[in-house]
Amino acid sequence: MRSSSLDASLVPALRELAGLRLLYLQVASVNIFGSDTVLGSTNRLQDGLDLLELMNVLPTASQAGSRLRPAQTLATVKKRLRLDTDEFIVQSPTCTSCYKVYSMEQMQTMTSPDCTVKRCKGIVYREKCMAEDLGREREVKRIPAKIFCYSPIEKTITRFLLRKHQENASQLKSLKAT
Ligand SMILES: [Zn+2]
Repeated sequence: MRSSSLDASLVPALRELAGLRLLYLQVASVNIFGSDTVLGSTNRLQDGLDLLELMNVLPTASQAGSRLRPAQTLATVKKRLRLDTDEFIVQSPTCTSCYKVYSMEQMQTMTSPDCTVKRCKGIVYREKCMAEDLGREREVKRIPAKIFCYSPIEKTITRFLLRKHQENASQLKSLKAT
C-alpha cells in the first residue's frame, strides 16, 4: 500500500481538514453530477467556508503551518481532489473550415487569423479585447476559433495508473507471480 505522504502528493486535499475535504467533495459532485454552474459551485463553497469559519474550525494563518489555504474556487477544489482533467488533455487550435490542426505557438505567431491551407476560407483564431488591468494597457488576446481536444497515449496511461484500483490490481498480479 502507498504511504500516506505519497497519497497526499497525489491528492493534495488529504493534507487538509476532513471537514474541508467533505465540503470539496460536495461542491465538486453537485457540479459534476448535478446542475450546479461554476458560479453556483463557488457560492456553495463560500457558504461552506463561512460555516466552518463561524465554527472556528478553520486554522488561522499562524496555525496553518504546512496546511494548504482553503480552496476559494471550483477549479482549485477540483485540483485539490485531483478531479481536474485538463492536465491530461491537449487542446489545439483548429481551422473552422478544413479542420487543420495548429499548435498554440503557431497560432500566436500567425500574421492573420486566416487558415494557411490554399483556398481554405476558414479562420484559426479570434481576437478578444481583455478588460484593462490595474496599471496595464488593454490587451488583445488570441482565442482559438475552434479547438481540437485529445489525450495523448502517455497522458492517458499516466491517468490510468493513478487510479486506485489499478494499483491494487498490479499488487495482486505481482503477488500471484511470486
Ligand atoms: Zn482551413
